[in-house]
Amino acid sequence: MAYLTKTDQVGKKKKVKRKRVALNGDTCFFSGTTQNLEIHEIYFGRNRQLSIDYGLVVCISRKYHEEIHRNPKGALDLELREYGRNHFEETYPNLDFDKIFV
Ligand SMILES: [Zn+2]
Repeated sequence: MAYLTKTDQVGKKKKVKRKRVALNGDTCFFSGTTQNLEIHEIYFGRNRQLSIDYGLVVCISRKYHEEIHRNPKGALDLELREYGRNHFEETYPNLDFDKIFV
């Protein structure tokens, strides 16, 4: 399990460092590297906080992270979204993914 810290904005000015546990451990989801790792909320944008609440975050290297945010709904993003959804449905079989992540 990877426990990476990430700075969150709390209120208007305050920032706090919080731990995130990545679903895929402490190597890059795509390349397996252990260099330049960052935490990515799988459903970023308006569902970002939900991603955090349900633990749908992954560890990826900076290069892939930048690529995902540059190209939303691209191949890398879609692969992660499918991975996150599968994880959610296994973890929360009684919840409806489509009603939560709209
Ligand atoms: Zn991200």
